[in-house]
Amino acid sequence: MADQNCLGKFPLADAPGYEEMLQCMRCGFCLPTCPTYALTNRERSSPRGRVALAKAVADDQLTFSKALKQEAYFCLDCRACSTACPSGVHAGLVMEACRNQSQAAMPLVGAAGKFRAFILQRMLPSPDLLETSMLPARLYQKLGIQWLVRHSHLLKLAPGWMEKAEGMMPELHPPLRPQLPDVVPAVGEQRGRVAFFLGCVMTLMYPEVSRQTVRVLSHQGFEVVTPKEQKCCGAPHLSEGDRETTRNLARHNLDLFMALDVDAIVTDCAGCGAALKEYEELLEASGNHAQLEAFRAKIKDINEFLAEQGLRTDGLQPVNKRVTYHEPCHLCHAQNVSRQPRELIKAIPGIEFIELNEASWCCGSAATFSLKHTTESQQILDRKLANIVTTDAELLVTANPGCHLQLAWGLKKAGLPQRVVHVTELLGMATRS
Ligand code: SF4
Ligand code: SF4
Repeated sequence: MADQNCLGKFPLADAPGYEEMLQCMRCGFCLPTCPTYALTNRERSSPRGRVALAKAVADDQLTFSKALKQEAYFCLDCRACSTACPSGVHAGLVMEACRNQSQAAMPLVGAAGKFRAFILQRMLPSPDLLETSMLPARLYQKLGIQWLVRHSHLLKLAPGWMEKAEGMMPELHPPLRPQLPDVVPAVGEQRGRVAFFLGCVMTLMYPEVSRQTVRVLSHQGFEVVTPKEQKCCGAPHLSEGDRETTRNLARHNLDLFMALDVDAIVTDCAGCGAALKEYEELLEASGNHAQLEAFRAKIKDINEFLAEQGLRTDGLQPVNKRVTYHEPCHLCHAQNVSRQPRELIKAIPGIEFIELNEASWCCGSAATFSLKHTTESQQILDRKLANIVTTDAELLVTANPGCHLQLAWGLKKAGLPQRVVHVTELLGMATRS
C-alpha cells in the first residue's frame, strides 16, 4: 500500500507539485530558452528532462538519485522555461522543491553541514550578525590588503570560486540599513506612502543604489518608511533548499510589514521581490489567505511601482548617455516585469536607449551558481557580454544585485568600458537635489 506521507520517493511535505509535472506534454518549446540545455545539449539538463526526472521519483520509478540532486543545483532557476511553456509548467520551481528534498534525502554532514546551517539559519536571519560579518571584508579593502592580494599571484593558487568571489566584491561601504531614516518624507505634493524592503545584498554591497531608490521615491512624491527590524527575504534559503527557514523569515516579514499603514511594499532587488511574492504559496498551509493575498498585492518591484503610478518627469534633468538594459531573470520571468524598466529608462530626457539582443537571457549569476559552476557561469556570461559589445552602450542598466555583481565583474575582466547601474541610479542621475 502506498505511503500516505510520501509522493513516490518524495516525502509529501514540500514535494514538487505533481499536477504541475503532469502538465508537461513534452512539446519541447522550453528547450531553446534554457541556458543549461544550450550549454550541454543534454536532455536531463533541460526543463523537460528535469521535470521528467522529478516525475519519475514522484511515480516511484526512480529513487532520489545523485543525478536529480545535481540537476536540481545545476538549474539556474532562471524561469525562462516558465515564460516559454504553453502548459504553465515551472521547471525552475520543481527543481527548487527538489533542492529542499535533496537536503532531506542526502543532507550535508560534518563541517560542511555545520557551516551551511550557520550561514542559513544563524547568519542570514540576523541582520546585525550579517552586517558585522562584513567588517573583515571592509578592513581587507581599507587596509590595502586587497590591493596586495590582487597584485600578487596568491589568488591563482586559490580555487576558482574563491578567485571569482574576491574579484566580484565591489567597493564596500558601511551597511545602509542602520543609516536609513525610519521615515523619509515625500518631496512636493504627496502621492502616497510606501514601505521599503531593503535586501541583504543591497544594504551590504550596493548601499548607494538603495539610497537612490529611496531618494527617487521621495522625489516622486512618496513618503518612504523603512522598518529596521526587517530580515532577509529567504531567497538564499529557497535557492539552497531550506524552505523551513524561509517560512520563519516569511512569517516575520509578513507580520512586520502588514502592521504598517502603507499603500505598497517596494523593493529594488528583483530576487527579493520574487521571493516576497512567493510567500503566498509558501505559507499557504497557515490558512491565512486574506492576509497573504493582501501582502502579495502590496509587493512591488520599484520598476513596476513607478510605472504603475506614472513617473513624474517634470523637473527631470537630462542624462546624455547611450544605455542598454539587461533583464534580471527574477524580474522578467519570475515577476513578469519587463516593459516597465524600459519605459522608465526611456522617459529620462537625453537617454539614447539601445535594445540588447537576448536581454532576458540569464547572465550566469543565479545566486551561488556563479561560484559553484564557474566554467558554465563564464560561458553563459560570455554570451551576454558578446551581446553587450554590439550595443556600443556607455551604461548597462539592470535591476538586481546578483546580475550587477556578475556583469560588473565580467565587463571589467573582459576590459569592456560599460559601467553597470541600477534603474534607480539612472533615475537618481536625472533627479535634481
Ligand atoms: S515544460 Fe512546458 S514547454 Fe517544456 S516540454 Fe513540458 S510542456 Fe513543453
Ligand atoms: S529555470 Fe532556467 S536553467 Fe532551470 S530548467 Fe528552466 S530555463 Fe533551464
